[in-house]
Amino acid sequence: MKLLEIVKLLDGQPNATRQALIMEHLDVLGVRYVEQKYATGTNLFVDLGRAESKIGVGTHFDRVPISAGANDNGSAIAVGLDIIRKHQEANSTAGVRVFFFDEEETGLKGSLAYVAQYGIRNLTGLLNMELVGMGDKFALWPVDASHSGQLLQAFEAVARHQQVNCSRFDQIVTNTADHLPFRQAGLRDAFTITCITDQDIATAHYYFQAIEQQANTAELMEILAQAPLFKHYHQPTDTYEKLNEAALTMTSAAIWETIRATQ
Ligand SMILES: [Zn+2]
Repeated sequence: MKLLEIVKLLDGQPNATRQALIMEHLDVLGVRYVEQKYATGTNLFVDLGRAESKIGVGTHFDRVPISAGANDNGSAIAVGLDIIRKHQEANSTAGVRVFFFDEEETGLKGSLAYVAQYGIRNLTGLLNMELVGMGDKFALWPVDASHSGQLLQAFEAVARHQQVNCSRFDQIVTNTADHLPFRQAGLRDAFTITCITDQDIATAHYYFQAIEQQANTAELMEILAQAPLFKHYHQPTDTYEKLNEAALTMTSAAIWETIRATQ
């Protein structure tokens, strides 16, 4: 099944249906999953491999009501499911925990609830994904030049090897995503991966310049509309037709090779 087909299934569905579709896929793959129920939602996670220490792979399944939720974050769900499939196909022993968080969009409630209940024990790091369905380059955030970490450096080495441009950013419009509760709990090697294009990088540059020059919201929105990535961000137009299979498979390959390199 093409990864884009999975995104298509999720497109515009209520959050509960998106979650049910993930569980259906996990059942088809024959993997067990944990349903972590907390006050306002339910996270899912899957443990792979015998190793006790796990590399975290992060996605969230909720979407903002106005948006179809394709790139944000159906794209990440499709890649997360593909990582599980690859792990099985390779008969791998690598320790991996794939997360499908609830309520990212309403204040990281799902990932906060996970960290509150389980802490960061057994996790060596977290490769979190946000918007990985369009673009031909990787943005890693929030990481600066001084940041080091086994997963971070392994991911960059894999990208170099795969001849995919990979850059570090302080933020991608926002600087919060599900890596944050893990970072705050002391897991340093936790960051978010987003697929971008040169056009997005140029637009981001103008955007931050405009903020410094105290541009108003309308002006800022106009600038963001110039970038393929930000144009559809949290908009009704964030639908699967805007995404491409190449970005999804590029992300899946890079994450999988990073797992293989650091297991
Ligand atoms: Zn998101």
